Amino acid sequence: MTAPGVGPRLLGARELVSLVVPRLGDGGLLIVSDFDGTLARIVMDPWGAAVIPEARRALRQLAGTPGVHVALLSGRTALDLASRARVGGAIYLGNHGVERGILARGGRAETMRIERDPELESYVEDAQLLADRVARDVSEPWMVVERKGPSVAFHFRAAPDLVAARDRVLEAVERADTSGRLVRFPGRRALEVRPPGAAAKRDALRLLIEELRPATTLVLGDDAADADAFMVLRELRDAAVTDGFAVAVHAHAEMPEPVAAAADVALASPAETARFLAGLARAIRAGRQAVTAPPRVTSSTAHARARASSPSSSGPSRPAT
Ligand SMILES: [Mg+2]
Repeated sequence: MTAPGVGPRLLGARELVSLVVPRLGDGGLLIVSDFDGTLARIVMDPWGAAVIPEARRALRQLAGTPGVHVALLSGRTALDLASRARVGGAIYLGNHGVERGILARGGRAETMRIERDPELESYVEDAQLLADRVARDVSEPWMVVERKGPSVAFHFRAAPDLVAARDRVLEAVERADTSGRLVRFPGRRALEVRPPGAAAKRDALRLLIEELRPATTLVLGDDAADADAFMVLRELRDAAVTDGFAVAVHAHAEMPEPVAAAADVALASPAETARFLAGLARAIRAGRQAVTAPPRVTSSTAHARARASSPSSSGPSRPAT
């Protein structure tokens, strides 16, 4: 959809709602969203990230709507993701899809049952050991170690020099990971170390679409890992498996190149994402009411009818809604 070198079209929340709603049919809608930089503003401390309340409300409404599925897909663990989002009825695909849980409506994240690929269990000890060693080696205040079972992420987004910090963390990982079984994924603000063949967002999205078979799929994200998922959506759309949009969220000073290349449209910020989700929830609710509810009677026509059917009545009448 986007020509090479040209970013996706930046839309306002309302514009995107009006683009999406006419495409919704009866075949179900799947909304798959990243967390950091998409539903939560980017903050210096990864443990300080919080979902925008308007996005939470909208996702709760959407997850409770028949025919609509909500999935959160993030590098965070499923438990961390569910604890921060607290959207009941949603599917939580944590650690890029390695973990999966469904939070019951009104349920607590801590009690959510989480499934993990059993083949990755043999990497848990390696990852823990690596986390311990690198944390000891790089003990700067900017270093944040995120332990994720068979994976570990070393965050350095608060370091004064990102490039120097990344080199330092990478060197520490090389020294500590003597087995070399884990694969390094260096990013601009974090270095992730994962088992070979562990699920990535693209695999998680493909499986979810195969399972749920939605007529329409919306994928929202801000980073390179999300761009992989955008590409899967485009591929499945071309194959007429599902329709939908890949929505890039502009959360950083610059949109990563793979995101700009793979997205169909863009929203300006996580706050705009929240407005979009709220607008979508409202539009879907209104659409369903239009189909199922009796014709609306305005207050003045109701009064007129009440007067016509009961001329002697002078009491107030309530409009039927
Ligand atoms: Mg993100």
